[in-house]
Amino acid sequence: MRNMIFDWSGTVVDDLPPVVEATNAVLTRYGLPPMDREQFRRQFSLPFTGFYERMLPGVGIEELELIFRPAMAASTAPVTLIPHALPFLERCARQGCRMFVLSSAPPEAVESQAAALGLSRFFEVIYAGVRDKTKRISGILEEHRLEPARTVMIGDMRHDVHAAQAAGIRSIAVLTGYEFPEVIAESRPDITVGDLSHVAALLDAWM
Ligand SMILES: [Mg+2]
Repeated sequence: MRNMIFDWSGTVVDDLPPVVEATNAVLTRYGLPPMDREQFRRQFSLPFTGFYERMLPGVGIEELELIFRPAMAASTAPVTLIPHALPFLERCARQGCRMFVLSSAPPEAVESQAAALGLSRFFEVIYAGVRDKTKRISGILEEHRLEPARTVMIGDMRHDVHAAQAAGIRSIAVLTGYEFPEVIAESRPDITVGDLSHVAALLDAWM
């Protein structure tokens, strides 16, 4: 595998603290009770339009983003590197892999987290704010002439696996993020690993 498309939240960084805070800002504005981290992980899904249709039927997504995005930007809750993410990115960079990010999180959040954690240098392009990855991913392969057989999508949610399947590339599910193992398993990823340290061993076998 020479080309890697990474999901961001739950795959490279743990941004659940500010995401839960910003989601609660939205829910409480409309009179719903706030969620804790585990409740959020049980309820949340991508595309996030579907999540909000379930939680707040009939409320426009643009209206919700006007609450979510400033709350996310204003949050001081910590965003940290996922364990083993940094050594994995360093290793891929040494091996000459081309790396991209495909994320639904707000671009300003992803860009500032990448800069703060010293990760920007690893990625050719960071695609963020993508509502539906299954509709966007093929365009990224075409744009950068990424050969499907040599490209993999790595993510922590069913939506990431569905995006890989839509593009005809292999998928690796990591269990470091938002979805519980039995939930992401529904999407039938090609490979599931506990964390990115296990992907390094796989790449040795593939490359
Ligand atoms: Mg994710």
